[in-house]
Amino acid sequence: MSEPALQLDGVVKSFSQAGRDLPVLRGLDLDLRPGEMVALLGPSGSGKSTLLHICGLLDRPDGGAIRIAGQEAQSLGDNERTRLRREHIGFVYQYHHLLPEFSALENLVVPQMIAGLSRREATVRALKLLETVGLSERTDHRPARLSGGEQQRVAIARALINAPRLLLADEPTGNLDPHTADAVFDLLVKLVRGAGLAALLATHNYELAARMDRVVRLEEGVLVEGPPAE
Ligand code: ADP
Ligand code: MG
Repeated sequence: MSEPALQLDGVVKSFSQAGRDLPVLRGLDLDLRPGEMVALLGPSGSGKSTLLHICGLLDRPDGGAIRIAGQEAQSLGDNERTRLRREHIGFVYQYHHLLPEFSALENLVVPQMIAGLSRREATVRALKLLETVGLSERTDHRPARLSGGEQQRVAIARALINAPRLLLADEPTGNLDPHTADAVFDLLVKLVRGAGLAALLATHNYELAARMDRVVRLEEGVLVEGPPAE
């Protein structure tokens, strides 16, 4: 048995708003096995983005433990957390968050070069992945010259380019029209399944959630298994 891709134990997070402490996560436990795709439901403001940022090591909880691929992340310093994130985690946002001054290709080359690959090696891999996501004709386009669906395809490719173990996606198709959203979501599922990744995907779409292995939902600061009752 390999270790969970992601493990949360008693994760707690509050924000201070208008001088008051607002508890958002009140003690969350979650295990994601390798290859498991889990949908994260919950109304707007319930803490989905907060949870994903904590899982992605983009934010720190106030208490509790996080393990990424078996490695305890909570006690690590900033540099080690960054290294762990680059090595193991891909993140897809609702808005693409691509570098606006760079082409689709460069957006995939840069993170690989940061990870230590040569430009030549990084370019070969990036072109291959852009072909897989159906963007061979768009490699030199900057994000502003791509459609919303194409931008998200690049964002998905970027999240996967360094072969992470865990994909985190925050309403990855929430900004797209229904038809495009379906196509992009199909692609995301295909790539995640193909690579055997664990994934945690926040979504408002119950139909998409039903296609995952498991559904969890955020309710009043805790995680509950399964979709909500009607
Ligand atoms: P969701 O993604 O489910 O819509 P969020 O995680 O974005 O929910 O937000 C959960 C709650 O935490 C909201 O009440 C939001 O206002 C609050 N919140 C999120 N980020 C911050 C922040 N940086 N500072 C203060 N409050 C925040
Ligand atoms: Mg959110």
